[in-house]
This record gives sequence, structure tokens and C-alpha cells, in this order.
Amino acid sequence: MPEDTAHFRSTGTVVLVGAGPGDPELLTLKALRFIGAADAIVYDHLVSPEVLVHARADAEKVFVGKKAGEFCCPQRDIEGTLIRLAREGKTVVRLKGGDPFVFGRGGEEAEALAAAGITFEIVPGVTSALGAASYAGIPLTHREHASAVVFLTGHEDPKKADSAIRWEDYGRLGATLCIYMGMKNLETITRRLQAGGLAPATPAAVIQSATTGEHRQFIGTVGDIALGSERAGFGAPAIVVIGSVVSLADKLAWFEASRAHALPGS
Ligand code: SAH
Repeated sequence: MPEDTAHFRSTGTVVLVGAGPGDPELLTLKALRFIGAADAIVYDHLVSPEVLVHARADAEKVFVGKKAGEFCCPQRDIEGTLIRLAREGKTVVRLKGGDPFVFGRGGEEAEALAAAGITFEIVPGVTSALGAASYAGIPLTHREHASAVVFLTGHEDPKKADSAIRWEDYGRLGATLCIYMGMKNLETITRRLQAGGLAPATPAAVIQSATTGEHRQFIGTVGDIALGSERAGFGAPAIVVIGSVVSLADKLAWFEASRAHALPGS
């Protein structure tokens, strides 16, 4: 048998698991079952420690944290690690913040596993835009406000002439916009949305560390959210939500309200 077919004898498998946005109670039952059964867990920096406590004490834990701009672990190394562990016959959980197939490079990892002949499964997770919106009291669709939602990444440099995202077009869409990884470029993004026709008074929110103990939210308008949230010290990880649905947070911000009531003396 040629050497490179050795993996066909492997009994290992990889499960790409969405860990949700932070609150460990947002894990699915399936995620919990796989995390508790895994021989090895390969996880990144957005996975809450409260999620990892469900791993077996003897499970091998491999941190492949990666922050915007800092390539601690090249994607190819991560894929190589998953393949190696699976070929050792292990049940490997690849744990990712939110959902593995939403800006999580889960697609690339699944492709690498498929190419290597490793069996895999995908367990969806609550993506952070959904967690952030629910906990911030922002219904992403609403009969009187918006009938469409768009998930966008603000990570790529929007000043690039060949930027894949034509922000001006999204300014005309009338949909609720949820921007991942948008804090660094928020000034340019909001300027380009307005250049496309989005009214400066359109409500906008920045929701940082959504659903966790550090959850906080900043409400403003497209015209002032970049500067306002920066002055208030907001930063990654955060979701930016733009659209008239954001005005409902005034009445519906249940999570901040419940925590304010829980403070001693309040
Ligand atoms: N796969 C993930 C997204 C990974 S990209 C998902 O489905 O959510 C990383 C970005 O996700 C961060 O820069 C931030 O924009 C967003 N994010 C992840 N967790 C978050 C949280 N708890 N609160 C706010 N934004 C979060």
C-alpha cells in the first residue's frame, strides 16, 4: 500500500463544532456531547473557558488562537494538526467561536479534511451576530423595519480599490447589516455606507463581548457610531448592527437591564 493511503486505515474523526458566542448555555446538546467525548480539542481564542470545562480532564487541548492581523498559527498548520490527530485514531473536536461556517474558516478546514480522506461532521453554533442581537434587544427582522439581514466582514481593508465588499451598495439595501470584525475600519465603513445613500441618522449599535459577563453595548447612529464607540473605549470582539431595528433596543435591551438590577444596591 502506498504511504499516502495510510489514512484510510485511520479510525479517527474530526468534528467542527460551533461553541456559540460566549454564554456557555448557548452550546447545543450535540456540541456538549462531542466536547465531553473528544480525545483532543483544538480551539481558538474566542472560545469561552466555561465551554472548555466540559472537556474530559485527560483530553489533549491544543490552542491555535489567532487574532486579526496576528498569525500565531497559519491556517495550514491548523489543518495539519487536525489531520495528524485524526490519523492517530483520535476523536478530534475543532472548537470555534460562534458557528464554524460563518467567518470561521470552517469551510477551508472541512475541505482539507475531505482532501485528506478524514471523516468529519459539522455542528452548527449560534453565530455571534445572532447572540449579540438577541442579548442587545435588537430583532434583526421586524415587519415594520427590515425584511432582510446581511452578514458582512469588516476585516478586509475597505480602502483597497479592489475591496470585495462594495459598501456603497449595502448602504442602499434597506436590510439590517451585521458587521463582524468591523471595529478597526468602522470609520471608513460607515462613511462608505453613507456615500451609498444610507441616512446618517440610521440607528447603529456596537455590541462587545456579547452574551458574556463582559457584554456591553453602545447605541448611536451611522453618522456618529465610529467616533462615539471609540471614545467610549469599545473594541474587538464586537458586532456592529446597522438599521432601523436598532431603535428597538431602547425598549428591549433585557440583558443589560437584568444585569443592572442584579448589581448590589441598585
Ligand atoms: N465564527 C464566528 C465568527 C468568527 S470571526 C461566529 O460565527 O460568530 C471573529 C469575529 O466574530 C469578531 O471579530 C467579532 O466581530 C465576532 N464575535 C465573536 N464573538 C463575539 C462576541 N461574543 N461578541 C461580539 N462579537 C463577537
